[in-house]
This record gives sequence, structure tokens and C-alpha cells, in this order.
Amino acid sequence: MPRVSDWDVCIIGGGAAGLFCAATAARRGRRVVVLDHATIPGRKILISGGGRCNFTNRSATAENYLSANPHFCRSALARFTPQDFLALVEARGIAWEERRHGQLFCVHSAKDIVALLLDACAEAGVTLRWGVQVQGVAHEDRFRIDTTHGPYIAERLVVATGGLPVPSIGASDFGLRLARQFGHGLVDTAPALAPLLLPAHERLDLPGIAVDAEVRADGPIFRENLLFTHGGISGPSVLQASSYWRPGRPLHVDLLPGHDLAAALGEARAVKAQLGNHLADLLPRRLLQARLPAAIASKPVSQLSRADIAAAVAALTGWELHPEATGGWLKAEVMRGGVDTAELSSQTMESRRVPGLHFIGEVIDVTGWLGGYNFQWAWASGHACGMAV
Ligand SMILES: Cc1cc2nc3c(=O)[nH]c(=O)nc-3n(C[C@H](O)[C@H](O)[C@H](O)COP(=O)(O)OP(=O)(O)OC[C@H]3O[C@@H](n4cnc5c(N)ncnc54)[C@H](O)[C@@H]3O)c2cc1C
Repeated sequence: MPRVSDWDVCIIGGGAAGLFCAATAARRGRRVVVLDHATIPGRKILISGGGRCNFTNRSATAENYLSANPHFCRSALARFTPQDFLALVEARGIAWEERRHGQLFCVHSAKDIVALLLDACAEAGVTLRWGVQVQGVAHEDRFRIDTTHGPYIAERLVVATGGLPVPSIGASDFGLRLARQFGHGLVDTAPALAPLLLPAHERLDLPGIAVDAEVRADGPIFRENLLFTHGGISGPSVLQASSYWRPGRPLHVDLLPGHDLAAALGEARAVKAQLGNHLADLLPRRLLQARLPAAIASKPVSQLSRADIAAAVAALTGWELHPEATGGWLKAEVMRGGVDTAELSSQTMESRRVPGLHFIGEVIDVTGWLGGYNFQWAWASGHACGMAV
């Protein structure tokens, strides 16, 4: 057992990125200790992907991430790919399945991924310390990490404390504060992959109803399910767009993606059915009632004027919403923003200000889309750092 002062690498945060980095570094012969204030390992992994952990995405590239520097994540993602992580999953005999859009999930449980990480750490000789509160960090020639379990001295310090979502299971702003302590800039943080809350006059009282929709804030268009909630909207398309949404900016929703409604109605001149009934094959009746002006919904399609058709098209495919807020840190899956990448090496995740200090995972200003991209960033950044320390 090494003395407290004997560590080559101290990693604060034993989540996805921290454990993967620890195993990678220890396999290279580094003496590695991981400190985490949580008493149960990998809690965020355990709740991820509805308990099945969407552990990567087959098609993860830099285009699937938000960052003030969109190129920063390229190198690490290229050096540790989704296929590399999948090979580890397969080597352990973990049953996995591919869902839509290249999303890879455990068939049985997210526990399989936590076990993979803990076993990799045990096999490589990593020392894991749970239930440790870090009280302060100082740096002279080495790092001194003061904790409730005494001081740890290490050549290198890796900050892997994750983002701010779900504070009840251990999320903290420790990594952001530490970055600031060592002179690093922060990119403004905000809840991302979060439901959106609507002002009362824009809310539709349709909780539980889900439809295929295209949703866009100030970024790409996402086509997935949109779910109506008590306070607003959620579902994959909304979560994706929420990462690009800024307070005060509108959200654009097309409830009939892939349909040319104007052309279809223009050609349906012989249809005697009321518009609301005619469209009921495409959208739930209650949603049609809520969105279509009553006078238009009750008209036979054959009697619709050009203005009526334009109004129906606008109501269903050009819906502009004005969210009041996101669902906040309790509902968000990830944090947007974080430690500014401007002063980090994209090869090693090392600080350019403080040699030997590294940041990995969600604490950095690299935010993935929904669909396994955030874990892929945790593995890739953890691997890049673990190969360097
Ligand atoms: C409900 C939910 C579902 C999700 N599902 C998915 C999914 O299916 N696929 C996907 O790709 N992403 C998913 N994510 C996002 C993903 O979980 C995170 O992006 C990922 O875990 C980040 O890895 P990390 O190692 O940076 O941080 P974390 O995994 O959060 O680990 C951080 C660790 O640091 C510890 N820590 C924090 N502060 C301190 C401190 N002060 N002292 C000591 N230790 C500290 C924490 O206890 C924790 O163990 C989900 C997130 C949530 C909230």
C-alpha cells in the first residue's frame, strides 16, 4: 500500500471519465488513487439510459458536440472511438443492443458498465477511495489534496467531477471552482438535454401525448418524439434542441415533419371531411383541436380557402414557442459550458497554465447530444488523459 505521498496521479471524481482514466493510467504502471465524495460508485451511470446506460453512439464525431471551440474534442474522439469502447463491452461478455440513431445500450443493466469500470480499475491496481470529502487543493512542485481522510500528495491531479445536473446524487461545482482557483476561464454553464417550460398561454393541456416532430432552437433540426408535459414540452427532440436554446430565444416546431401539408390540402379538393377529421390519421385529435383555429378545423377540406390552408400549415408546421426556462439542474441530463478549452491541451487534457493539472469529462466545455455521446466523451477524454499522465 503506497504512503499518502506516493501517488503519481490523483483523480478527483470516480464517475465515468475518472474511472476510465484511472484504469488507463494504472495499466501503464502509474500509481493512481481516485477520490470521490460519493459512497456508492457510479450512481450517474446507474441511472443513465433509463437504467440501461446508453454507453456510446456508433457515429460519434465532433459534430455531435457543443463547445465554444468545436474542434477541441476531435483529437480525443479520434484516438478512442465508439468501436474501442464496444470492444471492451464485448470482451466482458456484456449483452448490448443497438437502438435508433446508432445508440448502444446494455440489454440487462447499467450495472454492467459500472462493473466493467470497477473491474478494470481493480485489475490495473487503482486505489479507489469512496466517501472522501476534498477540502482544498494546493500546488507547488506537486499537488497537495487535503481531505477528510488526510492529505494526498500527487505528481498529477486529474479533475473528473462531472457537471451540475442531479445534485442529489453527488454533482458539485467543485471542478469549476478548482479551475477558477488555478486561473482557468469558464464558459457559462446552463442545464442542457432538459425539458422546456412554456408560458401559460403557450402550454397545451395534453400531458403524456407524444408525437413525431422536428424541433429547432438556434442550432440543428432534431426529428424525434416530442412529449407534452404539465409545464411545457419534453421528449428527445426537445431535449436535443434545449442544448441550443438560450433564454429569450424562440423554439420552432414542425408537428408534421416530412409532410407537404399545403400541397396535400391543395390537392384534396374533393374531400368532404372536416379538416380536423381529415388530419386525425396524422395527429391526435386533441392536439389538432388545440392547434387549429376552430373555424378552420370544422370546415370541409374542399371548402378551404388559400388563407385557411396557410393558417393550418402555420399552426401545425410553423409553430413558434417562447420557452420561459429549462427544467433546471434537477431535470437536465448534462451541463452546457464548463472549463474553457482555450487553455487545455486537446491531446492530453492538461492545463496550459498549471503543468500536471488535467480536466476530463463533463466538467469541460464539451457537451454531447442525447444518444450516448456524453459517455463517449467521458471515455475518450479519460483515455487521452490516462495515456498522458
Ligand atoms: C438521468 C441521466 C441520464 C443520463 N443518461 C446518459 C446516457 O444514457 N448516455 C450518455 O452518454 N450520457 C448520459 N448522461 C450523461 C452522463 O451521465 C454524463 O455526461 C457522464 O456521467 C459524465 O461523466 P463524468 O465522469 O464527467 O461525470 P460523472 O459521471 O457525473 O462523475 C463525476 C463524479 O465526481 C464525483 N464528485 C463530484 N463532486 C465531487 C467532489 N467535490 N469531491 C469528490 N468527488 C466529487 C461524483 O460523485 C461523481 O462520482 C445522463 C445523465 C443523467 C443525469
